[in-house]
Order: sequence, then C-alpha cells, then structure tokens
Amino acid sequence: MSSIEGIKSIADADVQGKTVLVRADLNVPMEEGRVTDTTRIDRFVPTVKLLQERGAKVAIISHFGRPKGQRDKKFSLKPVAEALEKALGSPVKFASDCVGEVAEKAVWALQSGEVILLENLRFHPEETKDDENFARRLSVLADIYCNDAFSVSHRAHASVHAITKFLPSYAGLSLMKELEALSAALDNPERPTAALVGGAKVSTKIPVLENLLPRMDQIIVGGGMANTFLLALGYDIGKSLCEPDFVDTAKSIMAKAEENNCEIVLPSDAVCAREFKAGAESEVCALDGVPSDSMILDIGPQSIADLKVRLQDLKTLLWNGPLGAFEVEPFDTGTVEIARAAAELTKAGKLVTVAGGGDTVAALNTAGVTGDFTYVSTAGGAFLEWLEGKELPGVAALRQSTA
Ligand code: AMP
Repeated sequence: MSSIEGIKSIADADVQGKTVLVRADLNVPMEEGRVTDTTRIDRFVPTVKLLQERGAKVAIISHFGRPKGQRDKKFSLKPVAEALEKALGSPVKFASDCVGEVAEKAVWALQSGEVILLENLRFHPEETKDDENFARRLSVLADIYCNDAFSVSHRAHASVHAITKFLPSYAGLSLMKELEALSAALDNPERPTAALVGGAKVSTKIPVLENLLPRMDQIIVGGGMANTFLLALGYDIGKSLCEPDFVDTAKSIMAKAEENNCEIVLPSDAVCAREFKAGAESEVCALDGVPSDSMILDIGPQSIADLKVRLQDLKTLLWNGPLGAFEVEPFDTGTVEIARAAAELTKAGKLVTVAGGGDTVAALNTAGVTGDFTYVSTAGGAFLEWLEGKELPGVAALRQSTA
C-alpha cells in the first residue's frame, strides 16, 4: 500500500470550536535555553495557522531530548513555546504538564483560535512504552488528534500510536507533505529514477539497498560505502574506510541489481589523501592507482563529470548520504558539485529531488542547496526506515484509526 492511501488530512476535518491535540516534533537544537535552528518549528507553523483560522483550540504535544521518564528542567519545552510564538506571530500559552489536572485545566480553558504548548511528553515513562492509559489521559484533553511529526512516526510511542485508539485521527499539513513527497519519489516516481546512496558504511544501508533495487533504474553508490563495492570488484583501495566482512553482501547486491535491471553506478576515479584533515595534501587517482598508504575520501573529477551527465537524463533522484567525507575540505567537492547540479535541474523543472536522512541535510546545507531541492526531509531514523520499505507505526495507526 502506498504511504498516503487511507490517511485523512487535517485540512479535511471539521475543527470549528473543537480542541485538536497536535503531536509535533519540537525537539529542536537548543543552546543555553535558546533555540538555534527553527527549521522544524517553521515547517510546523502552517498546521497551527490553519487550525487557528478554522476556529480550533490548539493543544500541542512534543518530546524534547531524552529525560528518561523523569521531570528534568534541562529538558523543558518552555523556551520552545517562545520560539513558536515568534514563528506563529500570535501568543502561545504553556502548561507545565501534558496530562492530569494542570494540563486539563489549561486546555479546557482555551478559546477558539488559542494555542497552548504542553510540557515534554517524555517526562512520563509511559510515553515511550506506548502505554494505553497514558494515551487515554492525553486523549481526554481533546476532540481530535493530529499527527504532524513524520520524524517520530517510526516509533510506537503513546503520543503517535496508542493515542489513535481514542480520538479521530488525522495527519497534519507537514506530515501530509512529507508523505506525498516520499511517495512521489519511491512508490510511483517519474522515470528514469535513481537513488544516490552514500555515507560511511554498507552495513547500515543493506535494507535500504535491498528495498531500492526493484524500484530504481539506477543506484548511484558513493562515500565510504562505495569502497566496499570496489573491494568486491577486486580493486586495491589502500587504507580506505571499508568493510571486508561485507564484500559478499556487496557482491550479492550487485547480482540482485542485475536481476532487477537496476544499474549500480560506482565512482570511476577518486580523490585520495594520506591524512584525513582539512587542507591535507590530496591527489586524484584512477581506481587501479590508489596508493597502498592512502585513503579514498571523495569521488574524483571524472566521476563528478559522469554523474552530472547522468543527472541530465533522470526525472527523479532520491538522495541519502554524502558522496565523500564532506565535513572536511576539499573532500566535500563531489557532494557539493553533484548537489548543486541536482538543484539546478530541479529549479529548471527537469528533475524531482527528494533527500533526507542523517548527514544528508548537513551535506546539502554545505552545498547551500537545501531550499532548491523538491523536498528535503529533516527526519533521520524515520526517513531511513521508510527507505527500507518499513511501514511506520505512527503512519499505519493514522490509517487504521477507527475512533
Ligand atoms: P552515514 O552516517 O552513513 O550517512 O555516513 C556519513 C559519513 O560518511 C560522513 O561523516 C562522511 O564523512 C563519511 N564518509 C563519506 N565518504 C567517506 C569516505 N570515502 N571515507 C570515509 N568517510 C566517508
């Protein structure tokens, strides 16, 4: 089943005068009590605005950090209420608990259009245990439940899973947008379609590769991962990061790719260095010319040129993981150049680009193109599990909710 089928959007719910309990992911980066990156808040704002405009009373719940089921001031969401207020341009109240009398009094006193943020869900150990009684205590606050947090939907936690048993359940605008973008790239992409899979290790991406093989026309393998494939093809890759124990896995992935008419695209040259540090002396090497005391840290200029040509013929590109050790210059070159080329094609309306997962957002930020891709997911674990073809419990629960 496609990720989007059977899911009701909050945009289609009658919310006038009703209380909507919205699960957001407001687990934002914070330093000394100040939010340092508001991306997640900004993406969430449209859902809150829509609910306000339609006369709903909005009660927002979220986790923040890992307080391990204990009340801990360090993990209070209070500073986030202030950041949300700024982003929203209207007042955001705050309640010091998400269940019980404090929460009930505060939420039940809301007027239409008013917004309240409730304290960290994870101050209660029941949240991460998907505890039904805790979910029921949350549910008494509201008439309708709305999940707007794709990034936590891979967790069967009370506020994303058990709660759907007690309230009519909908997806928020940003969750809908994310599911639509991911579905457009994986379930029914415009062809030809390729996945660019980079990053450090093959071992962490085996389920991703297995799921992508039958769906993609090409899989472009980069980063440290590619080294294990090169080793499997018999190249001497010197001191490069690789996983000799996964050479057989790489071989079997290449064999399965052939069965599935999926082309595995590996680098044709490399940038190598003896040290992994900024400004280290580096050289371009042919694949059969990697010095035995050197490491492959990026794809080479020929690979960059080849990939740029390849991109021109694609209609859809799914991107997960950097092509090289992008945190250290000059080994960011391959990632930056290919990201920029993909962004240009996207801006020209020729390519749909969907990216996400862990270091990918940081890599695209380095290239300065995050805003130019069709969609960039800020979800780490949830994005990877979705790439692996797993049904996310939070998304499945929205589909199955009969409350
Ligand atoms: P992942 O978390 O699996 O997406 O891997 C991202 C990490 O892979 C980044 O920290 C990169 O520096 C690293 N990486 C990518 N290419 C290489 C390479 N050729 N050698 C060593 N590390 C690499």
